[in-house]
Amino acid sequence: MPDANKHFPLNYAAPAVRGLQPYVPGKPLDELEREYGIRNAVKLASNENPAGPSPRVFQAIEAAAKTINRYPDGAGFQLKKSLAVHLGVEQEQLTLGNGSNDILVLLAEVFLTAATNAVFSEYAFVVYPLAVQATSAEARVVPANKTNHPQALGHDLNAMLAAIDESTRLVFIANPNNPTGTWLEPDALYAFLKKVPSTTVVVLDEAYCEYSGAGHGSLAWLSEFPNLVVTRTFSKIYGLAGLRIGYAISSPELAELLNRIRQPFNINSIALAAAEAALVDQSYIEACRKANSEALAFLTEGVTSIAGVRVIPSRGNFVLVDLGRPALPVYEALLHAGVIVRPVGNYGLPNHLRVTAGSVVENTAFLTALSAALVRVI
Ligand SMILES: *Cc1c(COP(=O)(O)O)cnc(C)c1O
Repeated sequence: MPDANKHFPLNYAAPAVRGLQPYVPGKPLDELEREYGIRNAVKLASNENPAGPSPRVFQAIEAAAKTINRYPDGAGFQLKKSLAVHLGVEQEQLTLGNGSNDILVLLAEVFLTAATNAVFSEYAFVVYPLAVQATSAEARVVPANKTNHPQALGHDLNAMLAAIDESTRLVFIANPNNPTGTWLEPDALYAFLKKVPSTTVVVLDEAYCEYSGAGHGSLAWLSEFPNLVVTRTFSKIYGLAGLRIGYAISSPELAELLNRIRQPFNINSIALAAAEAALVDQSYIEACRKANSEALAFLTEGVTSIAGVRVIPSRGNFVLVDLGRPALPVYEALLHAGVIVRPVGNYGLPNHLRVTAGSVVENTAFLTALSAALVRVI
């Protein structure tokens, strides 16, 4: 028997890593089908675009596949060029990430140390605490709006401001927020930015901004606030979640800092080509936006017609459903019926389920399964 150290490796990991709880993704479709012996299951658990990407994306992927023996363009020149035109910014303001998740982690790595803190809201996107905790910085979680607030469960910007001090290097704002679907009006955000000290970087996470119409005009604020970073993604409305590509828009100086620590080839060549093709087809995105509005209305009406169940209004491609009772047994019953949604007990919302707006068939399957589940589960 070798001299086994039963404390290895956990007690030898960095202290910040020892306390981490890994991210729990939505259950994959084939896993459910394998485990429960069912077919044609429906996944409404990860806020993916049910229609997939623009057909142009598949042509671009096929063409890009011919050169996968070569390293990708580490600078992402072509995509940045297209994005800069689309967004009306300079290429130097852009940072590409392996999903916008990558960007959130890079921001934490650039700005956070054990001597600093980061501020975010209760019920905010779960990647914020993960990214912060891995750096040993203090995570300041600010209580969300109370139930009597029109944006109940949403970010309380005044309370967030009050939590910021001279050691606060990052504040994360998700607009709209996942999993609550709550949002912030541009006036309120602008007033917030005016009051945040210039030594605190404001990370404005706009993963769902394409769903809420014209966007929030946040890019126009970048010239006034060098401490603002806006993050966006190709994972949601653009339908490229599986390829992992997102981006940040910031001052060129901040982008240059992110560029120092990112992996030299953090975006693969297929993703670069696919994102460029997806971006070009804005009429497809417009159709997805419209389909999502209809799906949200359909889901909201269907869920609301069930007694004792409530929907939180959403500006994303998902709704948070308040079951008014423990959600986990209902989640399990839905799994048995072949419908995967997202339990959010890990967010401190044990009575809620997050449901992605799917296709008409998927949404109907969910509503049917939910009604049946609520009759059976007490
Ligand atoms: C989905 C999501 C993201 C980004 O995911 P990526 O796939 O890593 O781009 C970022 N923020 C929020 C709030 C999200 O819901």
